[in-house]
Amino acid sequence: MRLSFILFAALAALATPAAAQSADTILTNGKIVTLAAAGTVEALAITDGKIVATGKTSEVEKLAGAATRRIDLAGRTVIPGLIDSHMHAIRAALFYATEANWIGTKSIPEAMERIRQKAKTAKPGEWIIVAGGWTPPQFAEKRRPTQAELTAAAPDNPVYIQLFYSAALLTPKGLAALNIAKDEDVPGGTLERDAQGNATGWIAGDIATISRLFDRLPLPTFAQSVEGTRQFFRELNRLGLTGVSDPGGFNLNAASYAPLFQVWREHQLTVRVVYSLFAQRRGKELEDIVDLTQMLPMGFGDDMLRFNGIGENVTWAMYNNDNPTQAQKQQYYEVARWAAARGMTLTQHWPNDKSVHHLLDVFERVNKEIPIAKLRWSIAHLNDATQPNLARMKALGVGWLMQNAMYFQGEAFLKERGNEIMRLTPPIRTALNIGVMIGGGTDAHRVMSYNPFVSLQWMLDGKTVGGMATRDADETPSREEALRLYTQGSAWFTHDDGRRGTLARGRLADLAVLSADYMTMPVGEIGALTSVLTMVGGRAVYAAAPYAALEEK
Ligand SMILES: [Zn+2]
Repeated sequence: MRLSFILFAALAALATPAAAQSADTILTNGKIVTLAAAGTVEALAITDGKIVATGKTSEVEKLAGAATRRIDLAGRTVIPGLIDSHMHAIRAALFYATEANWIGTKSIPEAMERIRQKAKTAKPGEWIIVAGGWTPPQFAEKRRPTQAELTAAAPDNPVYIQLFYSAALLTPKGLAALNIAKDEDVPGGTLERDAQGNATGWIAGDIATISRLFDRLPLPTFAQSVEGTRQFFRELNRLGLTGVSDPGGFNLNAASYAPLFQVWREHQLTVRVVYSLFAQRRGKELEDIVDLTQMLPMGFGDDMLRFNGIGENVTWAMYNNDNPTQAQKQQYYEVARWAAARGMTLTQHWPNDKSVHHLLDVFERVNKEIPIAKLRWSIAHLNDATQPNLARMKALGVGWLMQNAMYFQGEAFLKERGNEIMRLTPPIRTALNIGVMIGGGTDAHRVMSYNPFVSLQWMLDGKTVGGMATRDADETPSREEALRLYTQGSAWFTHDDGRRGTLARGRLADLAVLSADYMTMPVGEIGALTSVLTMVGGRAVYAAAPYAALEEK
């Protein structure tokens, strides 16, 4: 009793100078959606990168001293910094300074204008690349561009356009640069031909074929990749993102992480990056993971860059395989069991509900030997998830990484699966009711744009980029629920839910001041939101008018 009183007194004495110390930054007169409690607060104070108080402007102002930076929100809405729980951000960053993109373009002429602009600054012979992130329904013309259109936009440069992981279009200069004249020149691929038998410039292939084709393009230099990483993360900050969880991916190897590590070492990361290790050599997955993680323990890193286990490809044999053999499941079990024994988080790419029982069988087998709930394993995608499988995930403590794939692929999904299933896809409300943990995200940048507001709008209106309504109101979350998936929900998957994702005392000061009020604006305009001030650990990593002067380089 006496001892605890002394301890308490000592702690109180320690706490007093800190309380008397004025805040580094205060934000006042706002509408701050904390997600820590119902409703909003007006003001927030930050010291040493963390939130020290939230409440009424009049109360928080008491923490201001002579040196305090005061930010008047003038009624603007503030949200916790957004976290994309499944974005191939490290790869997108490597290429951001050198690639073009068609994000947000609404017609083929508009897309061609982006190519024309890129060609203006490119040296003759330099590649112009759009490596995905678009879909034909986004264009008024509802079709893919032709080789003639592309050549007219960039006559002096080889051009490569990728459509998801299913096709690529090259201009004649591009085909010549890669020595492609016939099918055999693209192992696994097919040169598309028109009615007269002439090659159209489009090459069709599966994910492995298209990834191999991409690998034939010249890589950006190290300096370009470092610059791309800085630029891409600032672009994410512009859209209110303060964190990403990166699941590795195709066209990446261990050396691909060097530009990211350099930016981190220079303390210039403006997005918190948590990454996992994607399978390396086919058939040697366990050997590679054991080797690569000997000096990379689970959770290694800091608040800006941290290692979070394995996936989204754990074994090649189970990747996009709806009918795995016993031997393939056994191999997966051995890797998963090893991961569980080492306390590793695991995330697995799985597109189809009809076959996910194979994966869940393995997870349940491992779970009998080593409980996995506290390791926060997850399944990514699974857009057509059904109630029984979500319930199996919930029972295991396995979370669901859910993205807006339907925003680009709704029209194709309707053709393949029909209206009834489309209206339930993805089953966001069902999953919320079951209580399975859900992380928001995009799966950018090859198969989707990285814009979180587009994904949030899609969660709420279920409309594709082409404007087609897909999901029923029954499977639609509220605005607050959707925001929660993109903040607190995503933070759970990186073991960060006690540190970020909500705005409360003691949490990291990651937030975004929005260009309009997410909570009350028309749903159809949410996709056009931007941040006017983004903070990561209290540092203004992005700022636009009227806060532009606050940005810290
Ligand atoms: Zn995936």
